[in-house]
Amino acid sequence: MRCKSMRLRNIPGADDVIQNHPVAIKNEIEQKGKWHTVFGNENPIHIEIGMGKGQFLLNLAKQNPQINYIGIERYSSVLLRALEKYDTEEFCDMKNIRFICMDAFTLPDVFGKGEVAKIYLNFSDPWPKARHTGRRLTSTRFFGQYDKVLAQDGVVEFKTDNSQLFEFSLEQVAEAGWKLLAHTYDLHHDEKMNVGNIMTEYEQKFSSLGNPIHKLIAARK
Ligand code: SAM
Repeated sequence: MRCKSMRLRNIPGADDVIQNHPVAIKNEIEQKGKWHTVFGNENPIHIEIGMGKGQFLLNLAKQNPQINYIGIERYSSVLLRALEKYDTEEFCDMKNIRFICMDAFTLPDVFGKGEVAKIYLNFSDPWPKARHTGRRLTSTRFFGQYDKVLAQDGVVEFKTDNSQLFEFSLEQVAEAGWKLLAHTYDLHHDEKMNVGNIMTEYEQKFSSLGNPIHKLIAARK
């Protein structure tokens, strides 16, 4: 069964809630190439991979009703928290957001070529051990998957406070043959790149500890 985790054991019924929630997609592979029918419009589709408890994506979707958003999270116990947030008065009327419980490596099974206009990666797990490099969401292994689903002019936006992961990511952008459109080592003090910034849960936590937030935007050459 997918979406199993240690954490799931602490939240009995998480899978049931997801199965029955109207904005949680259950048959994502069947939607490949026809996500516009899920939203009932032709608006661009932006996804966040590893969205955690959903604060960033829910606020972004609220600000941009002309864009369709899909939050992707590997653990059902975490996705459950995003659904609970969606269910609050602030967000529950929104029609432009959906959630999928899946491992992002299988993105090409779920999205057709060019179907995604933008990919957000926020505070992705660092996987510090060298033998786990390929699990990092900013590794060339993952850029290869993004290449299969991203629109021709699509972009990947990545934020982290982890300097080592950020340096690695800058290198991987180049190694993947992509181009760096912009980057900063201190997002919150970067007048240009911080415009409209929406904080994630991790961003709030780490910036409150004084950690500068790094951000890069990459696209295909
Ligand atoms: N983006 C949120 C934030 O900034 O507050 C959460 C960051 S948390 C460190 C990373 C999240 O990514 C976790 O919830 C984890 O389960 C999820 N994740 C990691 N690898 C993933 C993958 N391959 N596919 C889907 N989700 C993944």
